Amino acid sequence: MAIERTLAIIKPDAVGRGLTGEILSRIHAAKFYIIAIKTRRLTRKEAEGFYAVHRERPFFEELTTFMSTSKVVVMVLEAENAIAKWREVMGATDPAKAAPGTIRKELGASIQYNCTHGSDATDTAALEISYFFSGSELV
Ligand code: ATP
Ligand code: MG
Repeated sequence: MAIERTLAIIKPDAVGRGLTGEILSRIHAAKFYIIAIKTRRLTRKEAEGFYAVHRERPFFEELTTFMSTSKVVVMVLEAENAIAKWREVMGATDPAKAAPGTIRKELGASIQYNCTHGSDATDTAALEISYFFSGSELV
């Protein structure tokens, strides 16, 4: 297994409900190394660019509105097999279908308000990291 980096976001629903600390503790407990972290309020355009793969989906408008309503926490996480590992810690997209003990199962409110984002592959992870962080922030 290789050491990988993935992009994680604590979404506006979770930041707004005061769950940032709880989610960071889970990240530490799962032994990810936080390479970079910052808070941002995404513009509508940034949210649309970030979720461009979903632009034809019926929920695109709602999703990009939601993601740009208030602050998010964006992070680069490093670990062995970090991409799949972070998706495992988050759980399935829909909290109702997520495994017990996962962030989305325990803290998520709905398929949209599901607390966190995680990259889904090596190429998207690299693209998403560069969307928010410059090279000098990643050393
Ligand atoms: P993410 O990309 O945020 O990590 P994911 O990879 O598990 O989540 P995607 O299919 O990429 O899921 O969907 C992106 C986001 O769009 C979801 O996390 C969720 O916030 C929202 N979403 C997905 N499906 C729906 C839906 N049917 N209705 C409303 N929102 C949805
Ligand atoms: Mg996704």
